[in-house]
Amino acid sequence: MRTILVTGGAGFIGSNFIKHLRAKHPTYRILNVDVLTYAGNLENLREFEADSLYHFEKVDIRDRQAIERLFRTYDVDEVVHFAAESHVDRSITEPELFLTTNILGTQVLLDTAMRHWKREPDNKYSRDYKPSVCFVHVSTDEVYGSLGATGYFTEDSPIAPNSPYSASKASSDLLVRAYYETYGLPVKTTRCSNNYGPYQFPEKLIPLMIHKCMSNLPLPVYGDGQQIRDWLHVSDHCEAIDVVREHGYFGEVYNIGGHNEKTNLELVQIIINAFGQSEELIQFVKDRPGHDRRYAIDATKMADELGWTPRYQFEEGIAETIQWYVEHPEWIERIVSGAYRTYYDSMYSSF
Ligand code: NAD
Repeated sequence: MRTILVTGGAGFIGSNFIKHLRAKHPTYRILNVDVLTYAGNLENLREFEADSLYHFEKVDIRDRQAIERLFRTYDVDEVVHFAAESHVDRSITEPELFLTTNILGTQVLLDTAMRHWKREPDNKYSRDYKPSVCFVHVSTDEVYGSLGATGYFTEDSPIAPNSPYSASKASSDLLVRAYYETYGLPVKTTRCSNNYGPYQFPEKLIPLMIHKCMSNLPLPVYGDGQQIRDWLHVSDHCEAIDVVREHGYFGEVYNIGGHNEKTNLELVQIIINAFGQSEELIQFVKDRPGHDRRYAIDATKMADELGWTPRYQFEEGIAETIQWYVEHPEWIERIVSGAYRTYYDSMYSSF
């Protein structure tokens, strides 16, 4: 039996990834390891309550002993590492939390994987090397910093993070690289553009604007709203990670993106129009310090080497996403009221 340890599986992308993994690989044992910060919502995974090949462990990735116990108990074959503090605004007010979780937490996972996975250092540089174990590190295009009006981030672009969040992710990327180069740990890194889709915590741009629109509240837009982001549907991201997991080469970085560049203002206007609301709801607010102007991903390597391209057209994906939030008002309400946090206690605390 193959056991995949998914860190941060109660978060937005992690929970979508677990659903993808179960649909694609029904025989895998999935171990979801998440400490359930405010961003972790186990209700996203209700459908797994009766799945005997799914396990949840409420564990902090910085807890070396607990991670060691999990590797020993579950005989882990692969790690897909999502767990992180992920909100740029929060990283500006609480940088230390981002450094300990995103950097030291990653190091704990790398160390533990090293101890448990017998390495074969002579094969480290062979592109066809296929050990039975694998560590996929999920990262972000934000590690590359900001682009001008033209050009794209490739895997060879310099690392130049501008926020404590992106600096902590860039640091974890470099650690992952170092564990490959120094110890031959079989790692792969993905760097993806902005994701959208169901189950995203409503502090992030798209669900935040949808929620405000649905509640007829002002829509706060940073600065002039002309910051450009490249948007990818979360299910395309999950499929890309799965492809990298199965077919990617060790020690490599893969950029994942959707070729859907939109300014933040354009995006807000799309949402306003979908609800038939007035643009008068838009409220420009003081810009975020160090706010990157433009991100855009060149995902040619994913297409050429691994045959992956996104399935979603942005117009279709955003319409479906808006529809999902409209049809699940209770999901947002349970987050806004904090009720989602009681689910773990009711389901797991008696075990
Ligand atoms: P999220 O904030 O929705 O989820 C993060 C999850 O990690 C939560 O469930 C949280 O409880 C858990 N977590 C946090 N600290 C932990 C700790 N110390 N121990 C165990 N679990 C912990 O984030 P997301 O948007 O799903 O992003 C997942 C990953 O993908 C992150 O590494 C992020 O950097 C990366 N990424 C995100 C995007 C995006 O657009 N959201 C784009 C590219 C890359």
